[in-house]
Amino acid sequence: MNTQESRRGLPLVICAPSGAGKTTLVNRLTAEFSLDFSVSCTTRAPRGAERDGVEYFFLSRETFLERRDRGEFAEWAEVHGNFYGTPLQPVREHLAEGRDMLFDIDVQGAAQLALTLPEARFVFILPPSLEVLEQRLRGRGTDGEDAIRLRLANARKEIMESHWFHALIVNDDLDQAYDELRAFYVASRLHPSLRPRLARAVCG
Ligand code: 5GP
Repeated sequence: MNTQESRRGLPLVICAPSGAGKTTLVNRLTAEFSLDFSVSCTTRAPRGAERDGVEYFFLSRETFLERRDRGEFAEWAEVHGNFYGTPLQPVREHLAEGRDMLFDIDVQGAAQLALTLPEARFVFILPPSLEVLEQRLRGRGTDGEDAIRLRLANARKEIMESHWFHALIVNDDLDQAYDELRAFYVASRLHPSLRPRLARAVCG
């Protein structure tokens, strides 16, 4: 019996307000486990060393809207004045091959993805308080006062809407937050929806 062959990949969606520590947690998870990133399309310009097809597929607004209207995105959203969307076809292929996928998308996109991919699992990372989040954003030194105010207002809104996620992880102590994320991921991979042929493989 080869029960591994019947497993589908897990779509794991991780959302967090900026400054909550998502990138550090995601980097740890991808260093320990074999998870493929879903590469999104965006209409924003590349930043720094970002490469087309690696961090994002960089599209013109026109091309993005055409692809959206053809129904090519599993979800899409307008974030900070730019469009972002998850191409559906590569996601379907990865999952069918039994490869787990990680999605770094915003909360409005996550809510749409819950409809397109019902087997997806959704994690929300919270800061211990908005005061701590504010200190972290100021400590980064990358945003001006207006940007910090906007990020804090968005964070409050997202946190208040996070009740529908499958897991809420408070990133106060990084090691503990990682242990919780890891445990949730490992448990989620056992869900019966990812193993549609397991019972038959065992029982014959
Ligand atoms: P950034 O431009 O800083 O890379 O990303 C800005 C925001 O867009 C982040 O909150 C990120 O999670 C979100 N984002 C990135 N890709 C997608 C996507 O495909 N769909 C949605 N809905 N949001 C995305």
